[in-house]
Amino acid sequence: MRIGLGYDVHKLVKGRKLVLGGVVIPHNKGLSGHSDADVLLHALCDSILGAAGLRDIGYYFSNKDKKWKDISSLVLLAESYKLIRKKKLKVGNIDIIIILEEPKISPYIEKMKKNISKVLKIKTSQISVKSTTSEGLGFIGKKQGCSAYSVCLLK
Ligand code: ZN
Repeated sequence: MRIGLGYDVHKLVKGRKLVLGGVVIPHNKGLSGHSDADVLLHALCDSILGAAGLRDIGYYFSNKDKKWKDISSLVLLAESYKLIRKKKLKVGNIDIIIILEEPKISPYIEKMKKNISKVLKIKTSQISVKSTTSEGLGFIGKKQGCSAYSVCLLK
């Protein structure tokens, strides 16, 4: 078995959609980035790539490449999955924490897990998505951004 860790941060700005775990969440701000800036899926991709001993998401999906402009990060997840399948690896389980002050994302977690399970060809019972706030502290507490951690086991 192989373990991987992923971490990502994106800025919250006006005029962008908030997309987390492939789900568009109604909010007055969204995450800025080259792709859809899905911070949760980016952390997940990095944990999967890391567990396989590969490079990070920015190496495979450069923010200078027009191919990935405004793309759904579910596509990046599918591409990451292809890379680990080349090494004959499969996902054992995934544990993700998303840290943001608002909005509440608990109503969307089941849909996120379904999105992830479809791409990685695993059951939703192999995935955990949890959310927490920063208790008003730091850049997350000031609603300037959002971060996510992911741990993934490959076998
Ligand atoms: Zn990112």
